[in-house]
Amino acid sequence: MKSASDIARDVQSGTSSAASELDVALAQIRARNGELNIFLYVDEEGAQRTAAALDERIQRGEQIGPLAGVPVALKDNLCQTGIPTTCSSKILEGWRPPYNATVIDRLLVAGAVPVGKTNLDEFAMGSSTENSAFGPTLNPLDTSRVPGGSSGGSAAAVAADMTPLALGSDTGGSIRQPAALCGLVGVKPTYGLVSRYGLIAFASSLDQIGPLTKNVRDAALLLEVIAGHDPLDSTSLPEPAPSLSSHVNDGVAGKRVGLVRELIDGADADVMASVERAADALREAGATIVELSVPEFRLGLSAYYLIAPAEASSNLARFDGVRYGLRVNGDDVTSMMEATRTAGFGEEVKRRIMLGTYALSAGYFDAYYGQALKVRTLTINAFARAYHQADFLLGATTPSVAFAFGAKTSDPMAMYLSDVFTIPSNLAGEPAISVPFGTGDAGLPVGVQLLGPGRSEALLFAGARVLEIADGRS
Ligand code: GLN
Repeated sequence: MKSASDIARDVQSGTSSAASELDVALAQIRARNGELNIFLYVDEEGAQRTAAALDERIQRGEQIGPLAGVPVALKDNLCQTGIPTTCSSKILEGWRPPYNATVIDRLLVAGAVPVGKTNLDEFAMGSSTENSAFGPTLNPLDTSRVPGGSSGGSAAAVAADMTPLALGSDTGGSIRQPAALCGLVGVKPTYGLVSRYGLIAFASSLDQIGPLTKNVRDAALLLEVIAGHDPLDSTSLPEPAPSLSSHVNDGVAGKRVGLVRELIDGADADVMASVERAADALREAGATIVELSVPEFRLGLSAYYLIAPAEASSNLARFDGVRYGLRVNGDDVTSMMEATRTAGFGEEVKRRIMLGTYALSAGYFDAYYGQALKVRTLTINAFARAYHQADFLLGATTPSVAFAFGAKTSDPMAMYLSDVFTIPSNLAGEPAISVPFGTGDAGLPVGVQLLGPGRSEALLFAGARVLEIADGRS
C-alpha cells in the first residue's frame, strides 16, 4: 500500500486523485471486511462526496493540506456528525452524534478522507477486541490471533492495507499494544497535546487520541495534523501543534537511552531479544545505553485498575436510557435505567463500573482510590528521576506477540497484564511510541517501546525512525 505522504503528494500534483485513492481503499475493505470484521460502519457515500469535493478543488488549482486525499479509519469511540458511533456497545446502538470530534474536523481541514468506524473492545476496555458487542476483529497477519486492543479494528485496518492511516485512543496502552501485535507504529501523545473533544470518555485523566500507521513518517504527519490547542477541551495544552515531520531524521547521536529493567522483565524471550537488539541498533546510531531500574513501574498496573475504573464508573453514568441509544422500558425511571444498563453493557464494562464504584465509595475511598493516586504521583516522580539519567527510555511494548483467540478471556488478570509496560506513560501523562522491531514467535512482529518526557514526541519519532531503518523497513 502507498504511504500517506505519497498519496498526498500524488493527489495534490494530479498524478492521482482522491476518488481513485478512495476506490483502492474501498475495494480492499469490500474484499476483506466480511472475514476480518474490522469496520463496523463504512461511509462509502460520505467518503465519495469528500473525495469528489477535494478533486474539484485541486482542479481549480487550490492547495489542499498535508493529507490531501488520504483515506483514514476512525476508532468507533470518535464522534462523527450523522455517523453511527457505538463504542462497540449495544447501549449506543442507533445513536448518531450531532457533532464532529475535533480530530475529525482537523483531518478534514488537512484534506483527509474518513472512510468509516472501526471495531474496539466495548468502551475501549480490553486488550484483544474480544470484548466488542459486535464480535472480535481478526489479526490480518494471522487470523487465528487477536489484533490486540482496544484499538484492534484501527490497527487491523492499516495492517490489512485498507487505509494507510487510522486513529485510535490510548488509556492504558490501547494504541501501542495493537500496533505491536499488528506490526505498526502507534503513538500515545503527551496528555493534552491532542484534543479529546468528541472522544467518548473512558478515563478522562488518561485518555489520549493518537495515530496508527505503517511507518514513522506517516505517524508524525498525522500527529501534526491532529495536535494543537483546542478551546473545546479544558485539558488541551495551550500551544499550537509541534513540528514533528521535520525532526523524523534527526537521529539519536549523543542521546542517552535508558534501558529499563521493569519494562522488559516478564516478557517472552523473543520480545526480550528484540528489545536488546533495538538497544544495539540505537548504540550503533550513536546513542549511549544506560541500564536503569524503575521499581515504581511495577505498581502501575494496580493503580491503573483503580483509577481507570473509578473514572469510567462516573463517565458511563450518562448511558441511562434517557439520552443516548438503547432504552429498555420499565415500570418507573429507576427500573428503566436498570433494565437498560443490564441489557446494554457487556460483562467487562459491568466489571469496571462495579470496581470503580467500590473504589470510590465512602469508607473505601482512601484505601483504594486515594492510594492509587499516591502511586500515580510516585510514578510521575520516578519518570522524572529516570530523565536525569536518560533522554528517553526503551522497553518492550507488550509481554508477547499476538496471542490466540480465547487465550486470556477466562482470566481478566491475564488480559490486564497485556498492558503492564504501557500503563506507566498514561499515569504520567507522557508520550510513548511503539515501533515494530524484528520478528518473534510464529514469525509475528514484535513491538519495542520508546518513552519520553512530556512534549518529547519529536525525539521519540527520531528514535523510532532509527529503529525502522535498522530493521530494514526504511
Ligand atoms: N487494556 C487496557 C484496559 O483494558 C487499556 C485500554 C485502553 O487503553 N483503552 O483498560
